[in-house]
Amino acid sequence: MEQLKKITLTEQEMPTQWYNIVADMPTRPLPPLNPATREPATREDFYPIFARELVEQEFSTEAFIEIPEEVQALYRMWRPTPLVRAYGLEKALDTPAHIYFKNESTSMAGSHKPNTAIPQAYYNYRQGIRRLTTETGGGQWGSALSFAARHFGMDLTVFMVRVSYGQKPYRGLMMRTWGAEVVPSPSTRTAAGRRVLEHEPESPGSLGIAVSEAVEMAAGDPETNYAIGSVMNHVLLHQTVIGEEALRQMEKAGEAPDVVIGCFGGGSNFAGIAFPFLRERLRGRMATRIVAVEPESCPKLTQGEFRYDYGDEAGLTPLFPMYTLGHDFTPAAIHAGGLRYHGAGSLVSQLLKDGLVEAADMPQLETFEAGVLFARTEGIIPAPESTHAIAQAIREARRAREEGRRETILFNLSGHGLVDLYAYEQYFAGRLR
Ligand SMILES: *Cc1c(COP(=O)(O)O)cnc(C)c1O
Repeated sequence: MEQLKKITLTEQEMPTQWYNIVADMPTRPLPPLNPATREPATREDFYPIFARELVEQEFSTEAFIEIPEEVQALYRMWRPTPLVRAYGLEKALDTPAHIYFKNESTSMAGSHKPNTAIPQAYYNYRQGIRRLTTETGGGQWGSALSFAARHFGMDLTVFMVRVSYGQKPYRGLMMRTWGAEVVPSPSTRTAAGRRVLEHEPESPGSLGIAVSEAVEMAAGDPETNYAIGSVMNHVLLHQTVIGEEALRQMEKAGEAPDVVIGCFGGGSNFAGIAFPFLRERLRGRMATRIVAVEPESCPKLTQGEFRYDYGDEAGLTPLFPMYTLGHDFTPAAIHAGGLRYHGAGSLVSQLLKDGLVEAADMPQLETFEAGVLFARTEGIIPAPESTHAIAQAIREARRAREEGRRETILFNLSGHGLVDLYAYEQYFAGRLR
């Protein structure tokens, strides 16, 4: 008999609410601080650059928040995303483990990022905002927001880290095709960019600098707001649609995961797949382990310090409690650009501090080995970021084989790598360390 390979959901089974883990956290996260006064930041501190509804979500302690009908309708352009049993990978590993992955690469931008780009654009548009700014590293977030902004007829300026702008021309072209303006950062458009260029005219840029530029531009114009692709609570909230679907799909498959795995940049796809399962565990209905996987070269979770730090290089953002390598940390130029961020969101940081989630780090070569094996067994060429989750799933599956355990593993495939083939070229040429 044909084995059940891909599990989907009917329209009636689709989640209609996002899940806010703050409601179930044994220790609530410390508040963000206003950088000038060092007092807890208020909603008013965020209003100049964020839509009110998003600020409300940022501060919310409600467990469930309704997904607006219009956002649900847009989600249906590509959701539900498939939950797939990776029989090919299991066979190649000769493991008794059952491996499942949630395929978030099926969106228009090829990653999980549209899950939050669409509601962020929606709430800003509803409030009368007509222009957005943002930053992008690898280009995944910039492309997701480009489509979302265009859908609502808003203009978008994307500050793209200069080195990625040069290395990933196709991401830039995707953004332009969807109608965004793409500016290599550091640029002369902002004081933050000009300051960097004065000291270092050939600066390759960093995500921190690009955030400073986007925030500065939004703060200077009442009709312009800023949108962020990861780290903040409201972003993680929107991504929980991934885990809510996966929870229902695993139930349909008749299994409960022993471990849930996500790669970790700022925490959004990890939180997205993991938080609904963590809720089930915190409420005593499931016993799953939760593992965040970061690159060895940017180890904020496994080696960072838990303290207040800025979200950007120039120190324009509030101070957030987080595991951090320092806001001026420049990670090595690994190909998983989306994981090159100095800090972790406050929610995941607190959960890690309390021992409710685990963290693992992964060397770059092992991630590409895993990515190629996955491509050859499951057909999908994964994003360099996503290969970190795959590599951890493979480690877990091998351990299950050694220990003779029939473990159920679930990981999030955060995106495909079709715009990142240059990285694979480098790997095949033996140029990766
Ligand atoms: C942006 C991105 C990441 C990292 O960001 P998180 O907020 O940690 O999820 C991971 N994978 C892909 C494909 C991305 O685009």
